Amino acid sequence: MIGNLIYDYCRELFYINRSITGNGVRETLKSISKKVNNFQINEVPSGTKCFDWKVPKEWNVNDAFIADEKGNKIIDFKDNNIHLVGYSKAVDKVVSYNELMNKLYTIPEMPNVIPYITSYYSEDWGFCVTENQKNNLKKQNYHVKIDSSLKNGSLTYGEVLIKGESKKEIIFSTYICHPSLANDNLSGPVLATYLAMYLQKIKKLRFSYRFIFIPETIGAIAYLNKNLNNLKKNTYAGFILTCVGDNNNYSYLSSRNGDNICDIAALHVLNYSKVQYKKYSFLDRGSDERQYSSPGIDLPFCSVMRSKYGEFDEYHTSLDNLDFVSPEGFEGSYNMHKKIIDLFECNFKYKSIILAEPQLGKRGLYPNKSTKKSHEKVRDMMNLISYSDGKKSLLEIANEIKVPIWDLSLLASKLIEHKILKKV
Ligand code: ZN
Repeated sequence: MIGNLIYDYCRELFYINRSITGNGVRETLKSISKKVNNFQINEVPSGTKCFDWKVPKEWNVNDAFIADEKGNKIIDFKDNNIHLVGYSKAVDKVVSYNELMNKLYTIPEMPNVIPYITSYYSEDWGFCVTENQKNNLKKQNYHVKIDSSLKNGSLTYGEVLIKGESKKEIIFSTYICHPSLANDNLSGPVLATYLAMYLQKIKKLRFSYRFIFIPETIGAIAYLNKNLNNLKKNTYAGFILTCVGDNNNYSYLSSRNGDNICDIAALHVLNYSKVQYKKYSFLDRGSDERQYSSPGIDLPFCSVMRSKYGEFDEYHTSLDNLDFVSPEGFEGSYNMHKKIIDLFECNFKYKSIILAEPQLGKRGLYPNKSTKKSHEKVRDMMNLISYSDGKKSLLEIANEIKVPIWDLSLLASKLIEHKILKKV
């Protein structure tokens, strides 16, 4: 089962300390490069101006803990890397109980859960702990040590282009900046890895496929800053891969206009896969579509997720762990995105070769016995022929006659064999 392979890979990468920059990102990308051929890892130096932003300093952590007066480590980054506020500066000092309280973050209504907090753009430090851990702290001094570095380095991202016959690209973009958090969003990079591996096994592709692995927001901005012209020229459809590992109902977040080919494809696949899903509009956006689809950039991106970020209780907490995602969840997302890919690969235009209706019977295409099912099949075939004017795409016809494109594609192949249709 492919879901098991993706889940296992998620577990393998789970404990790496990722952020928007740093060695955790490099280690993650290096691992992906061992699975995906021609994988490029790029570095953008700190301080590089990207539109309205600047690439921040690079952050790395060796160790971080809070110890009591006896030297016992009460909170340890080594137990869970989300204990440390992301981008915490180096600290090595004794602090009072009250001072420490101001530097601890909890979720009071979830007393056994660690929140995930970052402070990318204002130099600070802090620890994320459970409400119970905080309440158990005695009134004494504590030794706080954060052995981290925040200095000029670079932002690291990865990408791979899998070339097809057309220069037009279908883009899958995912973010690699979250530490030990499974659904949001290690699920994205591991699914992207396996989708890229799937595509690299196919000998002849119609479209080109680009997979982008970037830190969220600043990575998308840096990537666009560098590649905008190419993206504007070649992007056919784009998808953000995020929150694709849990086994709850699906979610769909539309592109800004909601009527791009990415939306039409995603909705077709969701509707004909007989799954439950919730529709979100661009008003509910929260990931890199914020950059890709901003005015002037105008790239068509939507997302097909399981539980949407911000909408599940485990989101940005220690509960978004390897128990929250599952092989079944990954399997479903993999198949859903594979169907989207397959849809683009088969979405040709066809033209009927025969004037007036073809006689199906003499070609053996008319069933001998008339049942409800065979009747439907003939109706679909006749509809496909009748709409194949060389102008409408198979997807347009599929939506018009309310048949899944994958069924119609098989019918089209059969009609080509019988010299009734031709590809245009
Ligand atoms: Zn997030």
